[in-house]
Amino acid sequence: MNIILFGPPGAGKGTQAQFIVKKYNYFQLSTGDLLRNESKQKTPLGNKIEELISNGKFVSDEIVNTLLKNSITKLKFKDRIIFDGYPRNIQQAKKLEEILAEFDQKISHIVYLNVTRNIIEKRIMGRVTCEKCSVTFNEFFNKKEIELHPCGKGHLVKRKDDNYETIISRYDTYTNNTKPILDFYSKNVNFIEIDGNLKIDEITSKISDILEV
Ligand code: ADP
Repeated sequence: MNIILFGPPGAGKGTQAQFIVKKYNYFQLSTGDLLRNESKQKTPLGNKIEELISNGKFVSDEIVNTLLKNSITKLKFKDRIIFDGYPRNIQQAKKLEEILAEFDQKISHIVYLNVTRNIIEKRIMGRVTCEKCSVTFNEFFNKKEIELHPCGKGHLVKRKDDNYETIISRYDTYTNNTKPILDFYSKNVNFIEIDGNLKIDEITSKISDILEV
């Protein structure tokens, strides 16, 4: 099955996606990561993306769709994709249906991590990601795990867009453009809402229940 992990920025989508990839051999497709990788390579497209991301803006649908299509065609795990942070608006949701249909695939589940606004702030302000292995921790909640991280804590970096100004603009964009797509999916796929304020392990176990039916 192909799954969309849905929720506001900081809901824990990336954290849960990492778990699903490891445990169930899924392929994680995060357009945020695709965009960040492109910008790391300093291509003209990458530089444009870099400028938009650090201002908390969304890049155009055309750019995202191109990167996405390149990557779906390379996928080894048919019907084993977990989308994290995509689609972000109705146009992208429709385009995704089209692209998947070309490869005889579809979205079967949407898992909505519902988190309150005040919790999101602390999660995003504390988020650090390992530049070597991509695992994500939180400086406020995972002090012990950070000390024990095998790659060393020197490799843990903050995302450029994880600051107060961009959190506000990203949250507004989520409310106005992204959240409405829940309606689009509610008719077509299995829709599961999980309380995203719970502990990481509690959410993980609820997601496992869905994957193991
Ligand atoms: P998203 O991908 O939805 O933007 P992340 O998975 O990157 O969110 O999580 C944002 C931050 O919150 C990270 O620092 C992560 O360690 C932390 N986090 C994620 N899920 C939880 C949770 N259930 N409880 C506490 N902290 C969490």
